[in-house]
Amino acid sequence: MECIFCKIVKGELPSYTVFEDNNFKAFFDVFPASIGHTLVVPKKHYKDIYDLQSPYTENIFNFVQKVAKNLKEKLECDGINILQNNEIAAGQTIFHYHIHLIPRYKDDGLKVNPAPMKSLPVDSEFEKLLKKLK
Ligand code: 5GP
Ligand code: ZN
Repeated sequence: MECIFCKIVKGELPSYTVFEDNNFKAFFDVFPASIGHTLVVPKKHYKDIYDLQSPYTENIFNFVQKVAKNLKEKLECDGINILQNNEIAAGQTIFHYHIHLIPRYKDDGLKVNPAPMKSLPVDSEFEKLLKKLK
């Protein structure tokens, strides 16, 4: 079964397209978390952040910034969350790389920001982690 975002890119499935250029398309999420919830996808199929390649990797945030500024100006939202999920454990449900732009409105009650871990790591654990990552 073909990827639904590829079908949207090709125009085989309908979408409310906000903006597009040669490489990217921005369209409304059909199950929006807030008014104006928009998805940005590369026009070529990449599964996730590990799979994404040049020139999409280095250009996607220029495009996302244009979409964000337009949402801010036209919808007069009070903020925007930008999210990107990779793999099932992180909540990815459509396996075509995409970035969420979620406009926020004062007191909208949405819960997007993560809460801290219940038991916070101590300094030695941060040091150990740093060593692992370098
Ligand atoms: P994920 O959970 O993979 O980060 O996000 C996938 C998003 O795609 C969800 O927010 C979901 O509402 C949205 N979505 C699922 N199916 C469709 C569709 O057919 N069209 C559009 N525009 N959005 C979709
Ligand atoms: Zn795809």
